[in-house]
Amino acid sequence: MVSENKTDVIVIGAGPAGVSAAVTVARGGKKVILVERGNFAGSKNMYGGVIYGHAVNEIFPDYEQHAPIERFVSYHSYMLLDEEQSTTITYKNHKDNKNAFVAIRAKWDKWCVEQAVKEGVYFAPDTLVNELIVKQGRVVGIKTDFEEYFADVVIIADGVNSLLAKQIGLRDEIKPKQTALGVKEVIKLPEEVINQRFGINSTEGAAYELVGGPMTGMLALGFIYTNKNSISLGIGACLEDLKSKKIKPYELLEQLKSHPSVAELIKDGELLEYSAHLIPEGGYNAMPKLYTDGAMVTGDAAMLVNNVHFEGTNMAMISGKFAGETALEAFEKGDFSANMLCLYRKKLENSFILKDLKTYRSVIDILSARTSSFLGYYPQKICEFFNIFTTADGVEKHGKFVKFTKDFFRKRSLSELFKDGISAVKLVFGVLK
Ligand SMILES: Cc1cc2nc3c(=O)[nH]c(=O)nc-3n(C[C@H](O)[C@H](O)[C@H](O)COP(=O)(O)OP(=O)(O)OC[C@H]3O[C@@H](n4cnc5c(N)ncnc54)[C@H](O)[C@@H]3O)c2cc1C
Repeated sequence: MVSENKTDVIVIGAGPAGVSAAVTVARGGKKVILVERGNFAGSKNMYGGVIYGHAVNEIFPDYEQHAPIERFVSYHSYMLLDEEQSTTITYKNHKDNKNAFVAIRAKWDKWCVEQAVKEGVYFAPDTLVNELIVKQGRVVGIKTDFEEYFADVVIIADGVNSLLAKQIGLRDEIKPKQTALGVKEVIKLPEEVINQRFGINSTEGAAYELVGGPMTGMLALGFIYTNKNSISLGIGACLEDLKSKKIKPYELLEQLKSHPSVAELIKDGELLEYSAHLIPEGGYNAMPKLYTDGAMVTGDAAMLVNNVHFEGTNMAMISGKFAGETALEAFEKGDFSANMLCLYRKKLENSFILKDLKTYRSVIDILSARTSSFLGYYPQKICEFFNIFTTADGVEKHGKFVKFTKDFFRKRSLSELFKDGISAVKLVFGVLK
């Protein structure tokens, strides 16, 4: 391509996918521009709060010493809610608490880009890519508000909406059933108060996933993560459910905040920030085409998110790395065609990314058909059971258990229970096959 505005690789979007792609290319000795619409990396980005060490290790191996980490996650808790009660299961690994950590995106993304710039990436903030330049069926560059830039390879890392992947026909309009809306508040609290409420010390962190309560009957999960001096509290809810039930996400979040088990964790906190962002939920079945002549699609733009485990940043980082490596191999061969770039998909297929997405391919569909059971009725019943189990009130236990059991079957017909059983079996076999 003949142009003064020509580089080797352009990466669009400075989230985890884009920065990983860009730094990989720079380390391979090629010129790379990382283009970001925000005025700094992270300024437009929002997520729950957890980043996974395995992925960061592959991109920035000495991150632990320098990166803006809030707390390493030592406790993983699963809180089942009914209206007034909750049952929490907590897991703690005493040997290895470096698996995951909490970070604030505005700081984290900025730090990652600073590292990438030190390694030779040219960073262009405040630059919105309006469209891709396609010549004779091949992506050859980008159009911004100011100029046109050209490259041998363009890596698309522009996040969940990816208008750019859509422009070149790699993906369709995002569908409400395949999308969740995440809303989140960051609530300021003194460090000692957080430590005391979550039973942690200052080097430890807690991650909560919440089921039921105000989200009963919806494909929705809540989350709580402990930062150093604040708490991130939010909900991710399927757009279709929000629409069909005519529920506004911030109302759902307000209801969650007033649940007694949540309210006591955030009591007297000061609201610092409110944000909202979409999450791709389509998984393996909704993945777009991942490459074409001259371009590859990474991270959320490629729907690489495992919602069951809240894993998105790791898939974004590793897919970005694979796209960067593929670009380098394309330079070696002097071939930027789809035939060459299909190597990117092969790398994804051989990694945990497509293997995990394949494993979970039917989970969301199965859950969404049985939300009122798995994300409503059963969490409620578990809370009720523990209420009986733990209450000493002078009333004999046998009668209570008989009433509980009768109630259980009265409120859930045999055919409903049968459908739930079939779905549970499908879930297990779907994951194991
Ligand atoms: C509520 C919520 C909770 C989540 N919780 C977690 C969690 O706890 N752990 C986890 O691992 N994942 C979580 N995720 C998912 C995770 O945030 C994403 O999977 C991850 O950020 C994807 O990275 P990405 O680089 O592909 O996209 P993004 O992080 O979205 O980055 C895309 C970048 O592209 C830029 N951009 C977009 N369009 C253009 C354009 N035209 N020109 C220039 N720049 C552009 C954007 O400004 C942005 O910086 C959560 C997501 C949400 C919404």
